Amino acid sequence: MRLVAFDLDDTLSESKSPMKETMGEALADLLDKTQVCIISGGQFGQFEGQVLAHLPERADLTKLHLMPTCGTRYLRFTPVQGWTEVYAHNLSENEKTSAINAVELWAQQLGLWEEHHWGPRIEDRGSQITFSALGQEAPVAAKKAWDPDGSKREALREHISAELGDLEVRAGGSTSIDITRRGIDKAYGMRELETQTGIDLQDMLFVGDRLVPGGNDYPVQELGVPVHAVSGPEDTLAFVTALVPTLDEYPVVSDTAVSGDLARHPARSRRVHIPAVSESTSDRCSCTPSRPPEQD
Ligand SMILES: [Mg+2]
Repeated sequence: MRLVAFDLDDTLSESKSPMKETMGEALADLLDKTQVCIISGGQFGQFEGQVLAHLPERADLTKLHLMPTCGTRYLRFTPVQGWTEVYAHNLSENEKTSAINAVELWAQQLGLWEEHHWGPRIEDRGSQITFSALGQEAPVAAKKAWDPDGSKREALREHISAELGDLEVRAGGSTSIDITRRGIDKAYGMRELETQTGIDLQDMLFVGDRLVPGGNDYPVQELGVPVHAVSGPEDTLAFVTALVPTLDEYPVVSDTAVSGDLARHPARSRRVHIPAVSESTSDRCSCTPSRPPEQD
């Protein structure tokens, strides 16, 4: 195994909350042994607040791969430039305009264009347009009370989706609708990761809390990536702690991912990089389970 990928919310940390210090130490230990990726539907800011701010100084960030918004963005770290975007696959201006117009039209038609809201109702996230009926900064209680059975979001989703045939429209959080290109999920991100790093999907391990059908980690399992299901951050911590010692026999591989500007700055690593790993070393650790995922 050459790379371990993690979901963020409810895998490395509680949803929308900072990662615990113990998890930071465990990830730093793991980064000493192998490449690590974090992939989430959230934006980079969420990665900063929940993960990066809680990694210890010793963590080798040059081996960390970040994929916000399901891998429509990809960031790598260099000591000189810090976190740098390698690519961003954004919606075109036409796609954004159509999406925003459809959201406004149907929210008004269906009586869901709320006069009272907290912060902007429509957010351009580059690769995604998000409509939040009560605004981005609405209090949790107000959000939960707005559409408890999901019928408002479903009506809105249906109408917008019919209007935007070539874009994918999904109900997101408790008041929100997300519009993206079709086929953007974590499987998309994992395929991009394979392309960017040159590491075969079969040489990766994905760890997530929503690997059941319908869960947002399930597409990764469907793609055929070896997976490990966890019930939450405590479970992940126990798994990583057990995994790290089993990686001792595997050499740290050189970083094949870095291109362009990133390549000009040598990796900041305290370990000697061994340039080539024979494929015959691939009788992998016993931790690539094929057991069915657990409910969370
Ligand atoms: Mg999750």
